[in-house]
Amino acid sequence: MIEAPDWERLKKALAVEAKHGFTNIVGKQPFSQFLQDQFSQPPADLAPAERCQWQKFEQEFASYPDLSFALRQQLVTQARQYIHSCQQAWGAGGKPSCGQQSKIELGAISMVESTESVSIDQPLVKLKGVGFRNGRLLELLDLLTVRDLLFYYPRDYINYARQVPINELQPGETVTIVGEVKRVSCFSSPRNKKLTILDLLMKDSTGQIKVSRFFAGNYFSNKSWQEKTKRSYPVGALVAASGLVKKNKYGLTLDKPELEVLEEENNNAIESLNVGRLLPVYALTEGVTAAVVRRAVMTALLATKNLEETLPEPLRKQYDLLELKEAIASIHFPDDEDVLRTARRRLIFDEFFYLQLGFLQRRYQQKQDRTGIKIKSPDKGKLIEKFYKLLPFQLTDAQNRVIDEILNDLKSTTPMNRLVQGDVGAGKTVVAVIAILAAIQAGYQAALMAPTQVLAEQHYRKLLGWFNLLKLPVELLTGSTKTAKGREIHARLETGELPLLVGTHALIQDTVNFHRLGLVVIDEQHRFGVGQRALLQQKGDAPHVLTMTATPIPRTMALTIHGDLDVSQIDSLPPGRKPIQTTTLSSRQRQKAYNLMRQEIAQCRQVYIVLPLVEESEKLDLRSAVEEHKRLSKTVFPEYQVGLLHGRMSSAEKEEAINNFRDNKTQIIVSTTVLEVGVDVPNATVMMIENAERFGLSQLHQLRGRVGRGDRKSYCLLIGGSQTADARQRLNVLEQSQDGFFIAEMDMRLRGPGEVLGTRQSGLPDFALASLVEDEDVLILARDAAEKTILQDETLNSFPLLKAELERRYQRIMGGTMMT
Ligand code: ADP
Ligand code: MG
Repeated sequence: MIEAPDWERLKKALAVEAKHGFTNIVGKQPFSQFLQDQFSQPPADLAPAERCQWQKFEQEFASYPDLSFALRQQLVTQARQYIHSCQQAWGAGGKPSCGQQSKIELGAISMVESTESVSIDQPLVKLKGVGFRNGRLLELLDLLTVRDLLFYYPRDYINYARQVPINELQPGETVTIVGEVKRVSCFSSPRNKKLTILDLLMKDSTGQIKVSRFFAGNYFSNKSWQEKTKRSYPVGALVAASGLVKKNKYGLTLDKPELEVLEEENNNAIESLNVGRLLPVYALTEGVTAAVVRRAVMTALLATKNLEETLPEPLRKQYDLLELKEAIASIHFPDDEDVLRTARRRLIFDEFFYLQLGFLQRRYQQKQDRTGIKIKSPDKGKLIEKFYKLLPFQLTDAQNRVIDEILNDLKSTTPMNRLVQGDVGAGKTVVAVIAILAAIQAGYQAALMAPTQVLAEQHYRKLLGWFNLLKLPVELLTGSTKTAKGREIHARLETGELPLLVGTHALIQDTVNFHRLGLVVIDEQHRFGVGQRALLQQKGDAPHVLTMTATPIPRTMALTIHGDLDVSQIDSLPPGRKPIQTTTLSSRQRQKAYNLMRQEIAQCRQVYIVLPLVEESEKLDLRSAVEEHKRLSKTVFPEYQVGLLHGRMSSAEKEEAINNFRDNKTQIIVSTTVLEVGVDVPNATVMMIENAERFGLSQLHQLRGRVGRGDRKSYCLLIGGSQTADARQRLNVLEQSQDGFFIAEMDMRLRGPGEVLGTRQSGLPDFALASLVEDEDVLILARDAAEKTILQDETLNSFPLLKAELERRYQRIMGGTMMT
């Protein structure tokens, strides 16, 4: 049987490289290496001529690192065209056609006057009305086929319906003005060389106005760019400018205006102007003008009659969705705002729906896997019973429920893949220990991986206490484990003598081999990459996997990232926890905070002081932990012992600092965010956070969770370095709520989904239209629709169009699979 090459992966790699400016981007391996490897394996029964082409690409990608930017760009574009034509020739069935179509001459694709109707997968260069020249330009935007272009949604619209004469502008309105260019200049700001300013003086029959656009960055500060930009708005040209009307000290102007020259006769803009419609604004690149894209889209829209509806009719009806054709046509050239809204809704639905369908199908497939380890009646073992007796408290209902869910998973031959979400202090550790004991008493080993040394040590210490009482060995493996000790641990793992290993990333080293790994537990799972999690998993033969997170994320985000996981929620805290009294103070009120600290320390309590950064090189005006520690211990609290903890310290130093604090040898600990996760000192009752506005709310909530762990009333003092309304509004959320889910939701609304997850989280897909903040209702519908669809036919074979669309989109939506 002929195996079709993984076109999608190739395409993805090429697209990512293009997007990153041909820098030979490094994934698991450098891009050039990946391409070289791929082209070294031509499909088995390729025609000899094609085989040569593969060899040629193989060689060219070998020398890719040495090529100039222009040559790299050229090679990548050629490869993309080639792959595209190959994929077409091979078709969906994975068989090469007679070779006619796949024979293309690189760099010299002739324009074929197509007499048939426009096909959706036709290359743009061959599309009559786009043509070779514009087609090549559009390739710079990653647009190779009619389909690419149709799904290249506008990023905005110019609303000619709201065209306003210059003398009628009102601050606060978003409008479009059309006028003649009277004067134009483009220059570097005298105050900031990196800022380039384009000034246009525009005039219509009622008056004139100056509008400006700003371009930040060195790229724009060069003279030739500025000259060129100036030339694009020649005096006398008719220009449309749209944006929000603002008042500044010189009078009225438009904020970040969208500018467009309406120079051409027969220009769509003018036509649209006449009918007062919404004109699409596309993301452009140098050399590709708005007019080129718009005209090409217009032409491509003729092809929508061949655009098949991918959603089954009943589903489309049930969820009241516009037909795909209509939605695509309207997203580009909507008749009015209402039409635009319904078109968007349909296309957003699609973005969510296929992602959910992909997740659910993957989950279904995972559930078909029967190679897992069956742990029989895991709840009726001696170890677990003994452990329950050791606990000084009753488990909460939420903990018991989650434990049941986990133990139920362990009984199955389908490997568990479960995420436990629970707020800080919800008691996830105990839940994990029960899973671990279940595996051990069934004769398997377990591994517990945490993202930081501090956290790994914390877990180890806690487990060591319990395991000693249970007469079980447990070891800790981190980057700073001594070589000899490490060797001993490796040996005891391999014989199976060691039932549990706790550690950091050190656990995924090649030298770590288990005898019978049955369960993998990953704490703070979002701090690990997908690859790292998989590596640990591969140390066993389909072990059960339990991941945990104390950073609750909003529901929309959870569905978009973990849609394929089973999720358990520990949604209530152990009884008796008092809310942490949270107060925002200005930096002038710091003295108040110090007074409270003295009061608490006088009653034998302890205090955390958290600072955002430690690097002195950081230009921001933040007090560095080292300096602040000096100041606090010398001048503010000379009567107390003040400890210091930051990321630049060696692990031994960190451990010592934490131990000293735990043993109350230091009453105050000054720390950066390294203590964010896991540190557990119940005697600490005050946390003061400097420059609190620099943190995300979820992160602050997480930090705050370090206090309030004992039975005493605890305090969190947020010192705001900035007193903007936004900052205050955000910090107020923490004053008012102790609920991690609510806080995460607010954080997402106030700062956006990307910020909530921080930089390590890369799992968020790139939606073209959908927003996790605005479109929750559509996401819920889409999830519902996907569940019903999978329930009806998990193979999707009875929905061939749906299945094809899923395959087409899946790679693009999921991202991150390149070069793995
Ligand atoms: P997290 O979910 O943040 O990892 P931990 O597992 O560290 O929380 O638990 C926080 C604290 O609460 C620990 O000291 C733990 O022993 C305690 N704890 C856990 N479960 C309960 C319970 N049901 N009742 C009382 N205390 C509990
Ligand atoms: Mg924990």
